[in-house]
Amino acid sequence: MSTIAFIGLGNMGRPMVAYLLKAGHQLRLYARRPEVFQHEAKPLLEAGAQVFDTPAEAAKDADFIITNVMSTADVAEVLCQGEHAVIQQAKAGAICIDHSTIDPTGTREIAATLAKQGIGFVDAPVSGGVKAATEGSLVMMLGGAATDIEKVMPIIQCYAKTITHIGDVGHGQVAKLCNQIAQVINIQGIAESMRFAASNGANLQKVFQAISGGMAGSRMLDLMGPKMVSRDFKAGIEARLHAKDFFLVKEAINKAHLDLPALQTVALQLEKLMDSGWGMDDTSSLLRVLEA
Ligand code: NAD
Repeated sequence: MSTIAFIGLGNMGRPMVAYLLKAGHQLRLYARRPEVFQHEAKPLLEAGAQVFDTPAEAAKDADFIITNVMSTADVAEVLCQGEHAVIQQAKAGAICIDHSTIDPTGTREIAATLAKQGIGFVDAPVSGGVKAATEGSLVMMLGGAATDIEKVMPIIQCYAKTITHIGDVGHGQVAKLCNQIAQVINIQGIAESMRFAASNGANLQKVFQAISGGMAGSRMLDLMGPKMVSRDFKAGIEARLHAKDFFLVKEAINKAHLDLPALQTVALQLEKLMDSGWGMDDTSSLLRVLEA
C-alpha cells in the first residue's frame, strides 16, 4: 500500500479519496478551506485520512501527490510556488499526479520544475464528471514518461475505468481539451437546433426523439436534449468549468495562430452565459443564451 498526499477536496476530489482509502492506502490531505473537514470531507477522516496544514506537510514522505484543484495557476501554486508548496518537502522519487484540467504548456513548465528536484509528474485529466468519479468509472488521459505511468497505474485504477496513455507530459491535457472542444461545440449545436425548432413552433420533444435516432444522434444529444426540452438547467456539468476550459483553449490557439472558428464562436456564447450569472448551472444554459 502507498502513502498518498491529496490536495483539492472539491466535487471531484472527495470521491477519489474515498476510493483510495477503500483500497487501503494511507491518505494525507490538505484543503485550502479547512472547514470542509467539518462537513463534506468529514467521512474521509472517519475512514482514516489525516489532515495537514500545508501542501508541503501533506507531501512529506508521500509516494504519490495527487492534485485536483482548478486552474493552471492553482496547480503551480500548490506544487511549486512559495514556502508551503509540495516541492519544499516531497521526497525525490515521488510522483505528482494532476487531475485538474489545465493548460498543456503550463503543465510542462510545472513538470520541468519538479524534475529538477527528482520528482516525477503525470498529467491525468478526467472526463465523466462527478457521476463517474462517484461510480469509480472515470475516463482518464495520461501524459508522462512510461516508467512513471507504470508506477501510477495501480493508484488511478482505484477510480478510473478507461485509461489511455496519450504521450509525453502535457499530452494528457491536450487530449482533455480535445474532449472539451468536441463536447461543448456539440452542446451549442444541440441548443441551436432546439432554438430553431421552437422558433418554428415545432414540438421539441418530438424533434428530439426523431433526430436522436438519426445521424445527429450522440451521447451528448441523449444527455442535453431532454434537459433542454424540459428546461432543466440544474448542473450536471457546471458551465463555469466548460467556460474555464474554453478560455484556456482560446488563449492557446490565439498564441499558435490556429484558426478554429466554431470554438471562437462558442467561447463568446460561454462568455455571455457567465455574464448572465449561469456559471453554476448546467451548460444546457447555452440555450438560454440564444433566447436572451
Ligand atoms: P471544485 O470547485 O468542486 O473543487 C476544487 C477544489 O480545489 C476546491 O476544494 C478548492 O478549494 C480547491 N482549490 C482550488 N484552488 C486551490 C489552491 N490554489 N490551493 C488549494 N486548493 C485549491 O471543482 P471540481 O469540480 O472538483 O473540479 C476540479 C478540477 O477537475 C477542475 O480543474 C475541473 O475543470 C476538473 N474537472 C471537473 C469535472 C466536473 O464535472 N466537476 C469533470 C472533469 C474535470
